[in-house]
Amino acid sequence: MRQSKLFTKTRKEAPADETSRNAQLLIRAGYVYKVMAGVYAYTPLGLRVLENIKQIVREEMNAVGGQELIMTSLQPKEVWEGTGRWSEEVVDVWFKTKLQDETELGLAWSHEEAIMSMMAGYVSSYKDLPISVYQFQTKLRNELRAKSGIMRGREFVMKDMYSLHATKEDMDSYYDKVTEAYKKIYQRLGVGDDTFVTFASGGAFTKFSHEFQTLCEAGEDVLYINRDKTVAVNEEVLDAATAEIGISKEELSPTKTAEVGNIFKFGTEKGEQMHVTFKDSDGNDKPIYLASYGIGITRVMGVIVEKFSDEKGIVWPDAVSPFAIHLVALNTDDAEIKDWAEGVYEGLKAAGVEVLFDDRDARAGEKFADSDLLGIPYRAVVSKKGKENGVFEVVNRHTGEIRMLSEAELYADFATSSGA
Ligand code: ATP
Ligand code: MG
Repeated sequence: MRQSKLFTKTRKEAPADETSRNAQLLIRAGYVYKVMAGVYAYTPLGLRVLENIKQIVREEMNAVGGQELIMTSLQPKEVWEGTGRWSEEVVDVWFKTKLQDETELGLAWSHEEAIMSMMAGYVSSYKDLPISVYQFQTKLRNELRAKSGIMRGREFVMKDMYSLHATKEDMDSYYDKVTEAYKKIYQRLGVGDDTFVTFASGGAFTKFSHEFQTLCEAGEDVLYINRDKTVAVNEEVLDAATAEIGISKEELSPTKTAEVGNIFKFGTEKGEQMHVTFKDSDGNDKPIYLASYGIGITRVMGVIVEKFSDEKGIVWPDAVSPFAIHLVALNTDDAEIKDWAEGVYEGLKAAGVEVLFDDRDARAGEKFADSDLLGIPYRAVVSKKGKENGVFEVVNRHTGEIRMLSEAELYADFATSSGA
């Protein structure tokens, strides 16, 4: 992609009302556009990052047999009344609306009830189970506070998966499998070493759910972890969880984190409340077991920016970077250099490398500042001096390491590393 063709422009200042670091950087670099508090649009650049995150999640969900679908944002009230979750005392983030004939509707904040209602029409026998479905969907939540940038949106992208089972054993073993898939996801996203499987509040069926919490100063949660980082407990359930695992609170210390995922066993609760049943092998009606598995896709993007940025801008982990390489052309007033840069751009594209090409007529200082702000992890500079020696200066934004590569080396290096 040519930078001269991007409609987004970098900005020196973030909007005055934007207090969170992730949104400040993302807005300044042109990845997101702030529509209002808690509501952000994703530009072509931002969408590339989101799609990279989604693709990693998609691959791991497919690997555990998940089937992708997409549910609706408009939800009938009756489906939620059956489980008591239409009530605003139970769910305090509902956006609700009405049809012209006054019929009340809910705007989807989650989809457990929606999935169960749909599956009632498809599942009749134990032979139809298990089923595992997932989606990437825009959730709408009327959050009280929206001060964490894209980490807490009133409109945000979630990956939510739902698994339906005939037995508790089957649900339990699938839940463990998904837990492992989640660990792989956070590892691939570059935050694995700082992400903990955490005891968190459960529900009617289990005492605890499991949250995936990532160390992050800008996070809104407090986690208690022990020194060797094998135990992590959300402060919301500190007393109950420490009693359960037989560890004293003194062995755990508090740390700020962001909840990047939450997995949950509903057991037969929804199946019973909503009368969603199947016939077992003896022909008896049994309620379906349900578990649900969320990942905050846009929140993860915010957490990544919080963790991987410096005073100059963002430093994307390779796997989620919008481009594998930033090709920055200097001295383009010289026709020969310009031609060379154009040729390298075409060469990289032909080698299958995702490349952002700064082909603008701008000063070197401005180009470097923009490049640092955008945060593509590798920058290859085309310059007069480089051309004389037939090399490009390639800077690694993670380490600051500088390498001088020939054109052939550049293609070889990035054609292999840009597979993500
Ligand atoms: P929180 O406690 O942060 O409000 P939650 O427990 O209500 O989140 P879940 O219903 O568990 O959220 O949703 C699944 C995942 O979606 C969360 O783990 C989180 O990563 C993400 N998420 C939840 N609310 C938001 C939001 N307002 N903006 C962005 N991501 C969110
Ligand atoms: Mg949660």
